[in-house]
Amino acid sequence: MKSYPDSIKKVIENLQKLPGIGVKTAERLAMSLLRKNKKQAIALADSIKNMVENIKYCAKCRNFSENDVCEICASPSRDKSVICVVEKPEDFFAVERAGEYRGLYFVLHGSISPIEGIGAEELAIDYLVKRVKAEEIKEVIIATDPDVSGEATAIYIAKLLQDFDVVVSRIALGIPAGGHIGYADEITMSRALEGRRRIILE
Ligand SMILES: [Zn+2]
Repeated sequence: MKSYPDSIKKVIENLQKLPGIGVKTAERLAMSLLRKNKKQAIALADSIKNMVENIKYCAKCRNFSENDVCEICASPSRDKSVICVVEKPEDFFAVERAGEYRGLYFVLHGSISPIEGIGAEELAIDYLVKRVKAEEIKEVIIATDPDVSGEATAIYIAKLLQDFDVVVSRIALGIPAGGHIGYADEITMSRALEGRRRIILE
């Protein structure tokens, strides 16, 4: 059977490694990159290279950043006594978009999921504990998704921090159960933050 030239095959293979991209979509994207504006295809490749080479984890909050410490962590105008814990950088943007939160963040890059082999270590939760220990943190707001692993992560963090002089709260579940924080609109997000409750451990 005839197949694509090797250079096209390579692009299709690489596109297929992306989440949600099957072989048909990968083929269509590769063809589109070739057929349409070649300059645009080169610009896409360059921008991916530039992103991968320049983005690192912020040393404090682990959000993606071009500097060692991100703009928010470095900003003198943020309230340094509150940390909002989110699963993903997209969730951080959802909280920022709501426009009312002035504190700092901690990005886990996932949630505890034994089935997927994701534990506290993968999420660098010890970094968060170290910050609470070292900085003058009064409140940790947990804004993980309202699903099984998001809830498990919230309880896990609350337990780790229970002996510290810090309030650990959970955003209100105005966000529908099973929904994603990252998809919440500004009003839902504002209400979820405003209605947060202290986590009471049994
Ligand atoms: Zn940061």
